[in-house]
Amino acid sequence: MSALITADREQAVIAAAPTRLYIDGEWRDAREGRTLDVVDPSTGQVLTKVADASPEDGWDALKAAEAAQKGFATMPPRQRADILMNAFRLMHERKDDLALLMTLEMGKPLAEAYGEVNYAAEFFRHFAEEATRISGGYQTAPTGSARFLIHRQPVGPSILITPWNFPLAMGTRKIGPALAAGCTSVLKPAELTPLSMLALADILHEAGVPAGVVNIVVTSTAGEVTEPLIRSGIARKLSFTGSTPVGRKLLEQCAEKVLRTSMELGGNAALVVFEDADLDRAVEGAMLAKMRNSGEACTAANRIFVHSSVIEEFSQKLAEKMGAMKVGRGVDDDVKVGPMVDSRQRDKVAELVDDAVRSGAEVILGGEPAAGEGYFYPPTVLSGVPRRARMWSEEIFGPVAPLTPFDEEDQVIDWVNDTEYGLVNYVFTNDLTRAVRVAEQVESGMVGLNQGAVSNPAAPFGGIKESGLGREGGDVGIDEFLETKYIGIAM
Ligand code: ADP
Repeated sequence: MSALITADREQAVIAAAPTRLYIDGEWRDAREGRTLDVVDPSTGQVLTKVADASPEDGWDALKAAEAAQKGFATMPPRQRADILMNAFRLMHERKDDLALLMTLEMGKPLAEAYGEVNYAAEFFRHFAEEATRISGGYQTAPTGSARFLIHRQPVGPSILITPWNFPLAMGTRKIGPALAAGCTSVLKPAELTPLSMLALADILHEAGVPAGVVNIVVTSTAGEVTEPLIRSGIARKLSFTGSTPVGRKLLEQCAEKVLRTSMELGGNAALVVFEDADLDRAVEGAMLAKMRNSGEACTAANRIFVHSSVIEEFSQKLAEKMGAMKVGRGVDDDVKVGPMVDSRQRDKVAELVDDAVRSGAEVILGGEPAAGEGYFYPPTVLSGVPRRARMWSEEIFGPVAPLTPFDEEDQVIDWVNDTEYGLVNYVFTNDLTRAVRVAEQVESGMVGLNQGAVSNPAAPFGGIKESGLGREGGDVGIDEFLETKYIGIAM
């Protein structure tokens, strides 16, 4: 047990957590009284029950968003910015509870949960600053016979769907720009981790978000609840973060009413270590790119290509560091690796490791799921992972580092691009020309150069190919929630 987090403290934070649907500025039970269980993945025990929305509840939420849209669109940008800053401050005031709640429902170590609360809050500060900087234009037509006014307006009611791996930040990354742009929304968090987003609803309410502007609907039947909303003609936008197969299905649904879409989908990041890299820095970068969130991130290094002249030293150093990471409940002292989010996820990691070993990979560290309660998988390093191993093309989403040696730059660029995904890649080299050459050739929306993390609210996050559409954060993040209107004026 942690010196700071007692069982009483855990129980108190769970007892105080909101567990109902947040619709039209009010907390309510699901229409049919349905509930779903929220489980602590480090014990497999039920933490609490949460209202489980039916399609009718989802419909109520969208109606509330529709009713609030017109008024919210005319709220002065400065006022929208102030609300976002209030929410930013409240998140910091309540960071202890938010972090603990997140660790309990999702499993990540408490230090990482604090990191996420901070990261999540930054989206509110960033978009508070953007809210008052929505620019337009005034232009003379080439013939001189007209003027063009270029005006930016909110897209309209938006459906926001978020995953379980970053339960708070994936929500603020969508709610922040939606509020800044003047869009109302219905957010559906992942059913595995609803508590963080419900706690955020409480904060948004207190921060001054008007009734109906943000609605939070938790459900165990995601498709049944969201599909009618997407096809309703009321929603004008879908912003989704999750897997590529679900994203593809949602894009098809969005086609019916031609919704604007932002899609943050799967990844298959490569991390490349050239022979001229600073090896210690590359190991640090790999630790971050691999072990952040215990590998449960779409930005996680899924394939690690190391030049054959340095792979032995690199793998030893990496295995030493990964092997020293304490595995356990995220609330306990010094734990660096929490459980996988559920048994399905843990079993998938195990399956991919077994497949890699059958394909010829060698286990340097770990390689077996932990026995006992909770869904733990230990830090694992594999070497000599061949092209035919499933993990070359499938997201591992766990603490497994697959190493493969390479000899030539052209060869490794082909390997990096040998995937339908294109979210992020990491490159370690001290040769500036090579760094630029490789960064330009790898097919991804983001590149980490000599660094193992790219997430920053002030930068445009997003992928190409089957990793998605659109960008979140940066100066373009708000564009996803704005339409451009051109008003032609005859002269
Ligand atoms: P993962 O496999 O990481 O859980 P998913 O893509 O299944 O990723 O889930 C991401 C989010 O999408 C979650 O909120 C989940 O409930 C939601 N989701 C899953 N299937 C559907 C669906 N058919 N329609 C709408 N949302 C869905």
